[in-house]
Amino acid sequence: SESEGMACSTNSEKRVKFVVVGGGIAGVTCAEQLASQFTSDSVVLLTAAPLVKTVTNYKRVAKILEDFDVEEQPSTVLEGKYPNLKVIQSAVKTLQAEEHTLHTEDERSFHYEKLCLCSGAKPKLLNRNNPHVLGIRDTDSAQEFQKRLSTARRIVVVGNGGIALELVYEVEGCEVIWAVKDEAIGNTFFDAGAAQFLIPSLALDKPERAMPCKRARYTTEPVADGAAAGMSEATVETGSALGPDWHEGISLRGAEKGSHNVTVEYQCGIKQICTQQEILQSPPGGPQSSDAGTWPVYVQLTNGKTYGCDFIVSATGVVPNTEPFLHGNNFELGADGGLLVDEHMHTTVLDVFAAGDVCSAGWEPSPLWQQMRLWTQARQMGWYAGRCIAAEVLEEPIELDFCFELFTHITKFFNYKVVLLGKFNAQGLGQDHELLLRCTKGHEYIKVVLSNGRMMGAVLIGQTELEETFENLILNQMDLSAYGEHLLDPNIDIEDYFD
Ligand code: FAD
Repeated sequence: SESEGMACSTNSEKRVKFVVVGGGIAGVTCAEQLASQFTSDSVVLLTAAPLVKTVTNYKRVAKILEDFDVEEQPSTVLEGKYPNLKVIQSAVKTLQAEEHTLHTEDERSFHYEKLCLCSGAKPKLLNRNNPHVLGIRDTDSAQEFQKRLSTARRIVVVGNGGIALELVYEVEGCEVIWAVKDEAIGNTFFDAGAAQFLIPSLALDKPERAMPCKRARYTTEPVADGAAAGMSEATVETGSALGPDWHEGISLRGAEKGSHNVTVEYQCGIKQICTQQEILQSPPGGPQSSDAGTWPVYVQLTNGKTYGCDFIVSATGVVPNTEPFLHGNNFELGADGGLLVDEHMHTTVLDVFAAGDVCSAGWEPSPLWQQMRLWTQARQMGWYAGRCIAAEVLEEPIELDFCFELFTHITKFFNYKVVLLGKFNAQGLGQDHELLLRCTKGHEYIKVVLSNGRMMGAVLIGQTELEETFENLILNQMDLSAYGEHLLDPNIDIEDYFD
């Protein structure tokens, strides 16, 4: 039973040494770390979703750069690995940090000694109440998207981050109007040069997938009668975030034939969303459309154009999921609304730690690192938070982990391998930097950011095989002035040069 291994106190409040909230990568990694380090103490993972995320096929690509897949698994798999770890599907409703107590939507209470909050983030939605606007976050919303896409002829995608990039590339058989606020696509991840390199892929037919989805997928079993009782609507929305390849294994095909059909509208956002009725009755000067009456919904962009479409996908970033924890507690928040944590992943509230998308890194960052709400950082933070909690319990010192020395991210955009290192977009360097570029159309794009002769960051698109060498050069901050542009000379084997 659930109370096994846990002392029960009055009011059916369960006493547990460690409670972790959130079954995403950060929470699962943290809970695993604690369960393996304190084998005779109980760890409870409280999560709103029926499945948990686990890291598989972990590969260290270089000293810090890592790559892995993520699988959704039933919680029993996790519990099978750690006898002292219990996963409880129950959404947290409130936190009374002074009493060290959590209360869930289904009226359970947990008393903790140490708590780690890993509740992730939710998509910023243009308009929460408009049924024509869809956000993509978890398996359920991805399935809803797929269903609606299957009968769609035109969609409008708003946003310029990783999700929008992937979505626009993956959708076939449906016209896509892509509204980006910047001068180039993918601004969150790279510069206009890289965008120019990638844009032609949108005009090509997508290559056939070589392999079927290698990732095991589990379907959510129907909720047993009564199990969902007491769940408010808010909890229904709180699945964990999908990660890379979220579209793998689901076909993203619209109602029409053909591959890509993408129109990019640069430097604009949505001015207003109108119904068919509103467009038909729009006065002169208001939004006008030559095909008024044909589409279920119309979008007027800030550049003055109006598009009718079947639905709108909002992929404009995320907001940390802090809401259930704030009331009555003194959490300091970061500028981006996350729970501010210090270099030990400790929030400003006693015995409460946080990791992953929900937190804002509040320590003085290394000159080569920045927080971005991505898989890798969710894993690194969850793992490190587990170690910090352990250090606090054991009264041992602990230093900020080496992985926070250098920002690294490996992903895939438009079917190209993409590696981002350090200040890959010269973030925070002002004018004080120079760029080296090497680009072979359709093959590779390499950009190096140098400051005072030192490599500060790099963007590697394609099979460049340069990630390990460049990671080294960034970490050791060697003076590269003498090499000048030869650094990217394709006739020089740079690996031999520096190894
Ligand atoms: P999450 O994975 O969001 O997990 C949060 C957990 O908290 C969930 O289990 C949820 O059920 C639970 N929870 C929430 N509220 C409560 C509550 N009140 N009580 C109990 N439990 C609660 N990153 C990449 O690196 N590469 C990508 O290609 C990429 N693609 C993405 C595509 C999409 C569509 C999305 C949405 C995100 C993508 N990301 C990507 C970002 C990445 O998924 C997140 O950074 C990462 O999953 C964050 O992990 P987390 O553990 O902090 O939070």
